[in-house]
Amino acid sequence: MEIHNTKEEIVINKVTEIFDSLEKDENWENFCTCDQCRMDTASYVLNRTAPRYIVSNRGVVHTELEVHERQQTDADIAVLVYEGLRRVNHNQRLVSHGGYKTDNIPPDNRPVFNIPTVVGRIFSGINFAPLSNIKIELCRNGELVAMKNLNWQNPYIVAANTEGTFSFWPKPVRAESSQCHRIFEYSVHINTPGYAELNHFFKIPVISEIQTAGSFSIDRTFKLPDLYLFPPGVEDRDDFIDFPD
Ligand SMILES: [Zn+2]
Repeated sequence: MEIHNTKEEIVINKVTEIFDSLEKDENWENFCTCDQCRMDTASYVLNRTAPRYIVSNRGVVHTELEVHERQQTDADIAVLVYEGLRRVNHNQRLVSHGGYKTDNIPPDNRPVFNIPTVVGRIFSGINFAPLSNIKIELCRNGELVAMKNLNWQNPYIVAANTEGTFSFWPKPVRAESSQCHRIFEYSVHINTPGYAELNHFFKIPVISEIQTAGSFSIDRTFKLPDLYLFPPGVEDRDDFIDFPD
């Protein structure tokens, strides 16, 4: 008798699909696609996904998921793969051989607010398909938010084949002392041709901490609700905002 986590197969397939497409297509951000980066990314995703165990005495048996649930799982896994890519990839690692990449606040034992990564997805409000090639801005007090380092872009252009995923990692903000509670108010702003302008406001509570090398936590993620873009004028029509539940 054997126990399998069927998520392993699903995750490894998705990682392979995305890394293979990075090798074939444009790889704007120069992600490393070596085997170690593939396995590190798969581990990153598996550690953040609920396992689905089955018992089998004849190897892997495929569980039949409802089509919708399966698509949801696929999309969520794709989001995590892209998040993992940014965090564990050889070419994107924040700490490389004892040195922090430029433009980061060096660990100097002073208090800072470490802002979590902000992750979301953008869809068409008409057919609910994920969108790509959309420019997304993360703003605070009406200005673009500085990113943690040069690996992160703001504005961010949603890439093709990423299931509409975008992510930001704001630069840490200096604090007066540690253990200060502050609420950071942000907005995601999208003003792209063919769609009505979208502003999504949200708040992230953060507690300040002393900036040491070990305090560069990469485990905190602030997940936004799914966002939808509509053609101009459509948002005024009641029958279009009647989402199915
Ligand atoms: Zn690599």
